[in-house]
Amino acid sequence: MKSVSDTTIVWKKCKKCGKLQHPDHLRCIQCKNITFNIVKSSGDCKLLTYTILNAPPSEYRDKKSYAIGVVEYSNGLKAIGQIIRSENLKIGMKLTPEFKKLTEDLDGQKIYGVIFKPI
Ligand SMILES: [Zn+2]
Repeated sequence: MKSVSDTTIVWKKCKKCGKLQHPDHLRCIQCKNITFNIVKSSGDCKLLTYTILNAPPSEYRDKKSYAIGVVEYSNGLKAIGQIIRSENLKIGMKLTPEFKKLTEDLDGQKIYGVIFKPI
């Protein structure tokens, strides 16, 4: 578990096949191996698709809606995440990832994660 003061975005790299993936998978999405090296992410990404959530979950009670998108980094790694704004989004637009506070849970605990910001 990374510290919330560490804003470095990391990926998991499978020790068996080398597949890079979003850090939340327990098993390699290619070969099902369970051991990984942690590597620092690099580069910006492009927006592949997105949707607007007009009925957000209760943790996002301060927002009427927000955008979730699938992005692709220049090395082909795909990730899903919140986009910092929901207006004027275009498929193919460049985004930069940031690790920051996304919201607070119903107990007031801050929830951190990767959010994508249009360049
Ligand atoms: Zn693998």
